[in-house]
Amino acid sequence: METDTIAAISTPMGEAGIAVIRVSGPEAIQTADRIFKGKNRLENAESHTVHYGYIIDPETGDRIDEVLVTVMRAPRTFTREDVVEISCHGGMVPVQNVLEALLTSGARLAEPGEFTKRAFLNGRIDLSQAEAVIDLIRSKTDRAARVAMHQADGRLSRLVRRLRDEILETLAHLAVNVDYPEYDAEQLTAQKILDRCRSIETELDQLLKTARQGKIYREGIATVIIGRPNVGKSSLMNALAHENKAIVTEIPGTTRDVIEEYVNVRGIPLRLVDTAGIRETEDVVEKIGVERSHRALEEADLVLLLLNYAEPLSEDDRKLLSIAREYTTIVVVNKTDLEPKLDLGEVEKLIGDCPLITTSIVKEEGLDRLEEAVANLFMEGKAQSADATYVSNTRHITLLKQAKQQVRDAIGGVESGVPLDMVEIDLKNAWQSLGEIIGEAVAEDLIDQIFSQFCLGK
Ligand code: GDP
Ligand code: ZN
Repeated sequence: METDTIAAISTPMGEAGIAVIRVSGPEAIQTADRIFKGKNRLENAESHTVHYGYIIDPETGDRIDEVLVTVMRAPRTFTREDVVEISCHGGMVPVQNVLEALLTSGARLAEPGEFTKRAFLNGRIDLSQAEAVIDLIRSKTDRAARVAMHQADGRLSRLVRRLRDEILETLAHLAVNVDYPEYDAEQLTAQKILDRCRSIETELDQLLKTARQGKIYREGIATVIIGRPNVGKSSLMNALAHENKAIVTEIPGTTRDVIEEYVNVRGIPLRLVDTAGIRETEDVVEKIGVERSHRALEEADLVLLLLNYAEPLSEDDRKLLSIAREYTTIVVVNKTDLEPKLDLGEVEKLIGDCPLITTSIVKEEGLDRLEEAVANLFMEGKAQSADATYVSNTRHITLLKQAKQQVRDAIGGVESGVPLDMVEIDLKNAWQSLGEIIGEAVAEDLIDQIFSQFCLGK
């Protein structure tokens, strides 16, 4: 394959102790060597060795930065090409200067995801692993990172490969029967094919069941906090976030914009949206109808509806309760440290099946119960192992569903006695759909689209 040599900053931008600039391609070592001054020439360096020295401005000969350079020769590298990693001092200026020097010396600035794309194109990783790298970069909690890690190590790929093998075996059975109809008793073959297809369908089903969980780990539970002004929405958000991003205030109606925050509740990433977007004015419920807040509710996986224990239930509260009942809602009665004015029995009658939690956010009471209620709703009360294979990528889910439908078509075909070569087509389609998950027979533009989601330098 014809490739050039690419370079990019691989660590996040901004102040940091060190930064790493990665170079990959047939000329990676020479390109770096031209701007490197150390005890040894990089060109003669053995693979997987680290060299101390300086990066020199190729035009002026000035020292740019003191660096450690790692030389890794193909094929035992991430991209399977020659790779050089230059660790220099963090901070915008040295990093940019080293990158500039590399570009002057002949490297091209890498596109987002280009390193990973090369790893894929050179057969080092398959497509689902490459996508897992994207997830890993974006993962919001440790647990989410672990799920992505497992996919990156190829768990999903192995499962998908095994299912494809099973389909292929079934196809082989079919082919024997189609080509030599006299060879086997037709009835027996049909039964065997049915058994296999059903077992494949079950496995696809199990994998798809993990999809909801996978999505939660990956994207977080979109959570919207609603309630009348001053019930403690911002306080709750802050308490959950353990840091003061949302502005808490004594004056009703001061938080104006929708503020988003990721918090980690028992390993589940919650994406909290404070409903400041619902202008906290007297006519809060009217404003609930405002398009933006409505969208927030529509897109919410979870609604936290706050009520004030120190005030009687108001007309606004009732309206909010009737809206919230249509969603997955936890009702939080806050300010239990104050004199009770709210009739809890009445609230219970209005909330249907929604869990009810009492809290005093200022006294830090009840938050553990709230977190438990969240975990119960989304983890079905079971402690979930992050080691399971979760399907979380929308593209994978779509393809798995498609494969499942194709297997079902095959089953339906056998059951209704259609010619076996028709069944063969369904199974081949299922095999193809699964192949697309791991990047076999995937269109080029899809590959480009997937890799363009990466950040620069990965
Ligand atoms: P929001 O308007 O719903 O976002 O409410 P805030 O979070 O801004 O809180 C309004 C006021 O209620 C602030 O002064 C908070 O300190 C106070 N507050 C919040 N939670 C509690 C609580 O549990 N008990 C008491 N007594 N005050 C609280
Ligand atoms: Zn607020």
